Amino acid sequence: MSYRVRIENTQHEFTVEEGEAVLSAALRHGLILPYSCRGGTCGTCMGKVVEGRVSYPDGRPPALSEAEEAVGQALFCQARADTDLAIEVREVRSADDIRPRKLPCRVERMDTLAHDVRRLWLRTPGNERLQFLPGQYIDFLLRGNRRRSFSLANPPHDDELLELHVRQVPDGRFTGYIFEELKERALLRFEGPFGTFFLREDSPRPILMIGGGTGFAPIKSMLEHAFHHGIDRPIHFYWGVRARHDLYLADLPERWAREHASFRYTPVLSEPRAGDRWNGRTGFVHEAVIEDYPDLSGYDVYMSGPPPMIEAAKTAFAIHGLDPGHLYFDSFDFAVDPEDDPA
Ligand SMILES: Cc1cc2nc3c(=O)[nH]c(=O)nc-3n(C[C@H](O)[C@H](O)[C@H](O)COP(=O)(O)OP(=O)(O)OC[C@H]3O[C@@H](n4cnc5c(N)ncnc54)[C@H](O)[C@@H]3O)c2cc1C
Repeated sequence: MSYRVRIENTQHEFTVEEGEAVLSAALRHGLILPYSCRGGTCGTCMGKVVEGRVSYPDGRPPALSEAEEAVGQALFCQARADTDLAIEVREVRSADDIRPRKLPCRVERMDTLAHDVRRLWLRTPGNERLQFLPGQYIDFLLRGNRRRSFSLANPPHDDELLELHVRQVPDGRFTGYIFEELKERALLRFEGPFGTFFLREDSPRPILMIGGGTGFAPIKSMLEHAFHHGIDRPIHFYWGVRARHDLYLADLPERWAREHASFRYTPVLSEPRAGDRWNGRTGFVHEAVIEDYPDLSGYDVYMSGPPPMIEAAKTAFAIHGLDPGHLYFDSFDFAVDPEDDPA
């Protein structure tokens, strides 16, 4: 049994199989709808069902409120069609050509960037380069259908090796494995690229970028891409971390600020330590942005990092005039493991 899904105000229609998430079906048909966590927790894939009915086999997902559901809003990463549908959702056109693929890779190198951040360099088989947009991420494929998402930190033009910045999560299964057991030359499998957090190059607006911790990774990819392509829109990057030792590649944005007149860099520490000798900005990173840019109505804003940072910034930036259509983000949510995980 399958249903037809029509995207309002476009020529696009696709079929969704019974039990298949609407988002998965759209991607299968080469239509890129906005999404990030694919676990129902971040809200990126929210749209509206204007005709027909959807349901959620595991119950209403966390990022969809009862009130939103009552007015027809839906989270398409989780929604299953119960009838033919007409939906309203913003399409992401420039990722159209890139279909996610499953690839093996070898850990070519690893280095420690901070007490809790490790950089992995991955090599895919010789004839299997990964095509991606700057800012997208990959999912490691683990036993028991488990997946773990990590953003690509290298820009697409420099794709011989894929670069990841991995923060060790306390008691984290996969990040614990990376820090304690993973060896160079180990083989892993991943699927990607995924995500709609990528640089929109057709916009003339000045750009604000906010990275929390390893949220620097996708922003590094975007910035290196922008510099490589001579994009000269004003860009101001804020890097929010707890203490000075968490600015794990601080030389890099400092160097970019010296080399590119249109680029500014502001590190912000939320909990500087006594020995940090820090004269720079302190507090929550999104508050520093608002202090400097109280009217956000003319900006494109990109942000990535821990879910609490993303949530706080989304709310605060809306109050300060940011158009939601000009906000792009990746919330580093935890993966939801399948219940039948035998591991
Ligand atoms: C689109 C996307 C891109 C991402 N990119 C990156 C990246 O570039 N670099 C990076 O370091 N991380 C990134 N993450 C986060 C990363 O996927 C998780 O940290 C990782 O899945 C944790 O796996 P684990 O098996 O070690 O932890 P698990 O075993 O799944 O978790 C153990 C416990 O730790 C807690 N936990 C898990 N993850 C986190 C977290 N991120 N922060 C705080 N507590 C947590 C939870 O309470 C959980 O119960 C990204 C996430 C998403 C969705």
